[in-house]
Amino acid sequence: MRKLAAALAAVALLPNGAAAGEKIHVTCTTGMVGDLIENIGGERVDVTTLMGPGVDPHLYKASQGDIGRLSRADVIFYNGLFLEGKMGDILEKIAKRGKLVIAVAENIEPSLLATPPEFQGHPDPHVWFDVELWKLTIPTATEGLAQIEPASRDVFERNAEALRAELTALDAYCQERLVTIPVERRVLVTAHDAFGYFGRAYDVEVVGLQGISTASEYGLKDVHRLVDLVTSRGVKAVFVESSVPPRSIEAVVEGCRARGHDVVVGGSLFSDAMGEEGTPEGTYVGMVRHNIETIVKALQ
Ligand SMILES: [Zn+2]
Repeated sequence: MRKLAAALAAVALLPNGAAAGEKIHVTCTTGMVGDLIENIGGERVDVTTLMGPGVDPHLYKASQGDIGRLSRADVIFYNGLFLEGKMGDILEKIAKRGKLVIAVAENIEPSLLATPPEFQGHPDPHVWFDVELWKLTIPTATEGLAQIEPASRDVFERNAEALRAELTALDAYCQERLVTIPVERRVLVTAHDAFGYFGRAYDVEVVGLQGISTASEYGLKDVHRLVDLVTSRGVKAVFVESSVPPRSIEAVVEGCRARGHDVVVGGSLFSDAMGEEGTPEGTYVGMVRHNIETIVKALQ
């Protein structure tokens, strides 16, 4: 008993941050957040991402192993705005114990966020779809890392500057590619309402089968609504998402064909999760480029 008390006292004495010389251990929820922290932290961070390719953050629950990965981290970064809907409690509990837990999207000026009526008063959490909006997470992430390791502040700020420049170029690329689709064909039909900011930023009409979160069920009525829209507008292609089962969008394709309108699945978009590590789509920039090229090719 005395031994245990001594061990706990020793743990309590540890500073909140990385041990000297060791990398900062960071645990992130989504791949997009992990990519952000890797870019800003550079050599100084060792990033663990909980949600891999194909994982839906709206439905994700922390496993026993995840709780360990969260507890051992020097700092935790997550998207916030209720994206990780089922992880709120555990993150709150860990923050209450004194760990730095940071929602990168929650310092974005609220007037820049969209709150569509179907979101029941919550802002749309899918901010990474508008590259300029995602850039606004950089200061929060940089500040969080500098709090853990003040001596590396200059390094983090330099890395942040380089990332900002890269994302500015990426945003210009998105604009340039999407204007090659004739305006009347710029209709993006997907499985869930993840692309709202994308549509707003790049002048694309966006229609989703499911609501803002995949936790809401879609019904026959939603399928009919989309079949009506796709047939009446003559939309040529609809898209599946890598983190949502394809059957919902396949139901729309079948419905359209039954009415004599041939629509194809234009490809798979990365929506709430990135691609495999080690592939171009396993990075934020690569994921965005993949989506843009897939959409342009199918709708042009
Ligand atoms: Zn989503």
